[in-house]
Amino acid sequence: MKFEPFVVKDIAEETDDVCIFRLTRADGSVPAYQPGHFFLMRLPDEAGKMAQRSYSAASHPTESALSFCVKLKGSFTHLLWKMKNGDIIEIDGPYGVFLLKADDTERVFIGGGVGISALRSMILQTVKNDQKKSCLFHSARSLPGLIYYSEMKKLAEGNRNFKFYPTLTCEEIPSGWDGSCGRIGVPMLREKLGSLEGKTFYLCGSKEMAGQLAEALIAAGIPKEKVKKDEWG
Ligand SMILES: Cc1cc2nc3c(=O)[nH]c(=O)nc-3n(C[C@H](O)[C@H](O)[C@H](O)COP(=O)(O)OP(=O)(O)OC[C@H]3O[C@@H](n4cnc5c(N)ncnc54)[C@H](O)[C@@H]3O)c2cc1C
Repeated sequence: MKFEPFVVKDIAEETDDVCIFRLTRADGSVPAYQPGHFFLMRLPDEAGKMAQRSYSAASHPTESALSFCVKLKGSFTHLLWKMKNGDIIEIDGPYGVFLLKADDTERVFIGGGVGISALRSMILQTVKNDQKKSCLFHSARSLPGLIYYSEMKKLAEGNRNFKFYPTLTCEEIPSGWDGSCGRIGVPMLREKLGSLEGKTFYLCGSKEMAGQLAEALIAAGIPKEKVKKDEWG
């Protein structure tokens, strides 16, 4: 492991408990990485002991800063929430094997909540660089929880190669909502996509969401090697 100091450039508060942190090295550079990679972040806790956690890069490698979309949860994220512009966070990476396969013909991205982080980078790669057919299913409890909603909607506008299927799992659906309601499962995928054959599925989110959906896809006949998942516990 080789931690390096990174400078906090910007912290965007997306919801009450989700922030996007943008960081670069002091000289403005970022390390080389691939969409889907994650990095380790390290910070001293209140007792001065170093604590670390893993975070997927939400940024695309061509963007000027590394960005991480983080949900406030426990001890480490409470330390992160005390950070401000100009502060230093130690970063190590990239790591991981949740990466795009070059021979995919069509990609289906499925994310729950902040699971969109790694997928955003992969989607930008797929739509702008690889120019392969793809779509995103993103679920959240509320509309603000659909992080990157406007960006994904814009990316899908008039784009025959990229479709966006947002879904809300809350009981009270906001008026005027034109996305889906309920959890993402094989029935919803079939309703929107028709046949699931020949597609590669990239799932990212909690163990409950990504793990169960991966099992359901395999049970529905999708070959194991076409179901890739990143589960965060
Ligand atoms: C590959 C990967 C990518 C991830 N990407 C994201 C992301 O993009 N956005 C996001 O919000 N979250 C992401 N996570 C989850 C993230 O790493 C943290 O688990 C999460 O932020 C909660 O950390 P916390 O300390 O605030 O919560 P806590 O509830 O205190 O800890 C959560 C988990 O961290 C682990 N942990 C606890 N103590 C330690 C310790 N001393 N050392 C090491 N691990 C410990 C345990 O597994 C624990 O269940 C990712 C996880 C992985 C594995």
